[in-house]
Amino acid sequence: MNVLLIGSGGREHAIAWKLAQSKNLDKLYIAPGNAGTAKCGENVPIGINDIEKLVDFARQNDVGLGVVGPEGPLAEGVVDAFEEAGIKAFGPGKDAARLEADKAFAKQLMRSSTISYAEGRIFDRFSDAKAYIASRDEPVVVKAAGLAAGKGVFVCDDPADGILAAEKIMCDKIFGPAGDKIIVEDKLLGEETSILAFVDGNSIYLMESSQDHKPIGDGDRGPNTGGMGAYSPAPVVTDALMDQISREILVPVVDGMKRSGTPYKGVLYAGLMITAGGPRVLEFNVRFGDPEIQPILMRLKSDLLEVCLAVCNGTLERITLEWDQQPAVCVVMASGGYPGNYEKGKKITGLDQFEQADDVVIFHAGTAEKNGDIITAGGRVLGITALGQTIADAKARAYKAVDKIKFDGAYFRRDIADKAIKRKT
Ligand code: AMP
Repeated sequence: MNVLLIGSGGREHAIAWKLAQSKNLDKLYIAPGNAGTAKCGENVPIGINDIEKLVDFARQNDVGLGVVGPEGPLAEGVVDAFEEAGIKAFGPGKDAARLEADKAFAKQLMRSSTISYAEGRIFDRFSDAKAYIASRDEPVVVKAAGLAAGKGVFVCDDPADGILAAEKIMCDKIFGPAGDKIIVEDKLLGEETSILAFVDGNSIYLMESSQDHKPIGDGDRGPNTGGMGAYSPAPVVTDALMDQISREILVPVVDGMKRSGTPYKGVLYAGLMITAGGPRVLEFNVRFGDPEIQPILMRLKSDLLEVCLAVCNGTLERITLEWDQQPAVCVVMASGGYPGNYEKGKKITGLDQFEQADDVVIFHAGTAEKNGDIITAGGRVLGITALGQTIADAKARAYKAVDKIKFDGAYFRRDIADKAIKRKT
């Protein structure tokens, strides 16, 4: 089967790397891809939001399955367009993608399905938001209601910061129309985890747990980013907790979506805070998390193409997922300055030595090829992902590889997976 994968980040390199191992894959196309995906298939120069061109390309190249990486094209209806053209596509349709694209919709669904989440209020006028935040003594979290590439959330320890964040989102429009509405939430305390599941409309198949590291700085300091590293499994998630999350969160969401006439299929990602009172939802995503999917796919032994097809065909209950019991850790190397301004076009060296390694994979995110060199082309540049006997071992292997890869201004956190290591010892 020919597959067209849409996207160009670390997530898409991880998906491409895994799909390329499938015995049922004939040809893999990636639109537009990066320098890493080019090693797994053929990159095609079509933008992720150019839905018409993507569908035309799929038709002309006998593509049997579209796999959508990022949330943007899902929210724009790329899956609906593929299906209208008679081509299977992995991911939710436009209506179901609102679970991520519209945080207000997600909150309503959680409320009506009695799912525990971070309590919050929705505002469409800055003056109302300002008055509410000023009236609060506790720290608040201010979120753009629409899509903001994972950066639309401000965790604020005092009201003045909260008001400033609301102003930036609603008045300065730093995220464009995604900031027409904001949500002001209570700040929850606890340890975070990401639980991802394959969903085929009815059945749910949980993946192994994982944890992201959103803030730019060590010790979780500084502004949020798309994610600076991840590990899997997350020791905070015991088997009993996983059962609870499935029963009290994922099953009710999937049922709620079915009831509301927009059955959910694809990957359902619950970003959770494990509080003293149990798991609470911070957000839903409608696709694989990046970088979480990098360590998760390093651990997946089963054929990803088969799983994607089972999701599309509604036959998820007929398959089993097998996992490598070794933990995996991913450290993101970013361009200096990210998540603010940064320069591109820096030559990356040291990548070749890992091409044959089994236990370390260098997933490319913002990279491109120029005159035979691999150069930086984005904020998050590489996801250095390693398996190890223990989580500490996987961390050590990942950082050993990081230290061998160089580009001007490279920045990375030094403490990825430390929370898990502390919990284990
Ligand atoms: P989100 O995109 O909604 O998951 O938010 C991004 C990050 O902001 C999360 O991974 C958390 O670190 C933090 N965050 C979001 N909402 C809350 C909350 N209500 N309480 C504490 N931290 C939060």
